[in-house]
Amino acid sequence: MSNETVMGVGWEFPTRVSINITRRCNLRCKHCLSSSGLADSNELTTTELFGLVDQLREAGKPTLAIGGGEPLMRKDLFAVMARAKRNGVPVSVVTNGIFVNERIAKRMNDLELTSITVSVDGLKQNHELVRGVGSFEKTIRGIEILREWIVTAKLNIRVTVNKRNIGECPELIRLAERLGVHSIRLTPTLPLGRALKNDYLLLSQDRVRAIPNGLPYGHREH
Ligand code: SF4
Repeated sequence: MSNETVMGVGWEFPTRVSINITRRCNLRCKHCLSSSGLADSNELTTTELFGLVDQLREAGKPTLAIGGGEPLMRKDLFAVMARAKRNGVPVSVVTNGIFVNERIAKRMNDLELTSITVSVDGLKQNHELVRGVGSFEKTIRGIEILREWIVTAKLNIRVTVNKRNIGECPELIRLAERLGVHSIRLTPTLPLGRALKNDYLLLSQDRVRAIPNGLPYGHREH
């Protein structure tokens, strides 16, 4: 878990607390910086997560940013997010989108999340090079379902840029526009986790600097 602390005049408060809620994942992405796949034996229990959410209420209600692994693989994810909502703690979540169906999208919408970010790592061939065969259509379908159901949360795409997909950034921006998401964020593959074993994906520093980092564009109002 990590947090950011903003210094005010004579006081300070956390604005965002990030937690990788599980290391369990349905994918085994070649660039995964946490080498996710199987759950860790010491992951927080539901009770401990409830305790964390209650502490956040006392700590000024910073945004709880939930990542993984794949958060949707935790059966208690919605219970934790619901508790956060009851506590007035805003929640954002990052997912690979594969498990998203109408029921899940509706539940997410009911929780009035702040943002939902889905990872897309290239057009079909390059996305599936790192994320596995058959993953592209499922992820895009997940985004389409979210786009249909989500009213309040900002729906974002995150691209982890690598040597193979860097030339596709303009097309990915057009894809994001076509899908009607709120923003697309481009970040380089980091030399961590499984990316170390797949270093053919890593960009040179010059090419990292060439990425229009964090390029956000908002084009729809929620
Ligand atoms: S990058 Fe995300 S989706 Fe891929 S293995 Fe890691 S946690 Fe899972």
